[in-house]
Amino acid sequence: MQTPSDTTCDVGHPTPLRAVFLDRDGTLIANKHYLSNPDDIVVLPGVREALARLQTEGVKLFLFTNQSGVGRGLFTMADVEAVNRRMVEMLQLGAELFAGVCIAPESPQETPVYRKPSPRFIHEMLAIHSIAASTAWMVGDSPGEWEAGRNAGIQTAAIVLDPSLMSPGLSVARSAAASPLATSPDAVANRREELGVASYPSLLVWLDFVQKRTNE
Ligand SMILES: [Mg+2]
Repeated sequence: MQTPSDTTCDVGHPTPLRAVFLDRDGTLIANKHYLSNPDDIVVLPGVREALARLQTEGVKLFLFTNQSGVGRGLFTMADVEAVNRRMVEMLQLGAELFAGVCIAPESPQETPVYRKPSPRFIHEMLAIHSIAASTAWMVGDSPGEWEAGRNAGIQTAAIVLDPSLMSPGLSVARSAAASPLATSPDAVANRREELGVASYPSLLVWLDFVQKRTNE
């Protein structure tokens, strides 16, 4: 029996969502400067719900986090891994939540390898998982994240947080998002009124935006 998905009628529709690269600090959890203690993790509102929806739909999730505190000697990779592990436990979406994790330990003074805005991790994961760039998004709360997505040739979304949980990067994120800079993202999830959603947390706002657009 032929179902709608068997037809060729979907040519020209926006591509479906297959992969999301997620920044950690300020996007999934509250941004705390040089976070290294798992007890200090605060999962942001709406994050668990958004990730659960993505997971249910078979979207591959990748964690992509700059941790210059390692390069600066403030804490170790083991500390970062402990924070990541605790965050995954707190999200209660299974230990295999992320299909890949990149912890970029370089300080800004070091030659970047994986550090955002390097697109290297995104390129590698898209290749390993045979994911088309057109079906992937980079989601983050600061320009370096959108730049990494841009550099990798995927779509980018700015997640801007509840003011009470906001990182010092907010004003940068807001001004970059509002101007036609190279770093401006494809979707700005803090513009809730423009997206017609008044009260959703930001990651959910973005997800609604993408899914609505895909289904149009
Ligand atoms: Mg961030």
